[in-house]
Amino acid sequence: MKIFLNNQLVDAEEAKVSVFDHGLLYGDGVFEGIRLYENCIFKLDEHLERLELSAKALMLHIPLSRNELTQAIIETCKANALSDAYIRLVITRGVGNLGLSIKNCSQPQLFIIADKIQLYPKEYYEKGLKIITVPTRRNNSAALPPMIKSLNYLNNILAKIEAQNLGYEEAIMLNDQGYVAECTGDNIFLIRDGVVYTPKIAAGSLKGITRDTVIRIAEELNISIVETDITRYDTWIADEMFLTGTAAEIIPIVEVDSRPIGVGRPGAITAQFIKVFKSCVSKEGTKL
Ligand code: PMP
Repeated sequence: MKIFLNNQLVDAEEAKVSVFDHGLLYGDGVFEGIRLYENCIFKLDEHLERLELSAKALMLHIPLSRNELTQAIIETCKANALSDAYIRLVITRGVGNLGLSIKNCSQPQLFIIADKIQLYPKEYYEKGLKIITVPTRRNNSAALPPMIKSLNYLNNILAKIEAQNLGYEEAIMLNDQGYVAECTGDNIFLIRDGVVYTPKIAAGSLKGITRDTVIRIAEELNISIVETDITRYDTWIADEMFLTGTAAEIIPIVEVDSRPIGVGRPGAITAQFIKVFKSCVSKEGTKL
């Protein structure tokens, strides 16, 4: 496997970062998860824009221009002979001393991994996923804005541990006001009486690229979509529910906190979203 490291492709065994890299020492860095579908990098520009905004918020310099990043991603996919893949683009603060200061980190490190994707088992897409609300709250925006897609995922990891300890694969995280923010690695949508609801970004969600696509699909399908405060109660009484993310795509939810969603099977409106989403992924993006 070939990895793009800083400015060139290297063998995976040669792709190394230092133990003094602040990405490793402090989770100081940013990343994107991007999909390649049939030689088309889905919404690459949108991903690169989010990366730039995350980096700007952290005052982290991205060593390559957007065009250079695009070329590097294309090169990495081609070098690994991939036409469908999950692409992980990471920028770390780079090597520094054993202190938090960013001033001693002179050279950010950049690497790109392109590999086959491990999705949830097929059965979850057909039968739906059961999820649970966990006690760990989503980061307060004033502490670490959830809009920043940083290498520091411990908040989400704590929530994931809680879910897995109870036998669930995904968890709903509430914000510190008690409203639904998102899941540990996905945005959340619910449907009631034909209207689609999703938390506002300000509730503590990542501005998901898949989320944005779903909002656009709703408009195309003439389905009302509302970004609003959502409570646990709202999730319990939903007719349908689904999660969205680059890796998970659109996955139906059939149970929340032991309450069946609708009749406990993936719903018809969710199926419509999945169908349209699948039809656009290999068309909207950057060709290899
Ligand atoms: N929320 C979180 C916390 C995430 O990590 C992700 C990405 N895995 C998402 C939402 C979904 O975002 P996207 O659709 O851009 O992958």
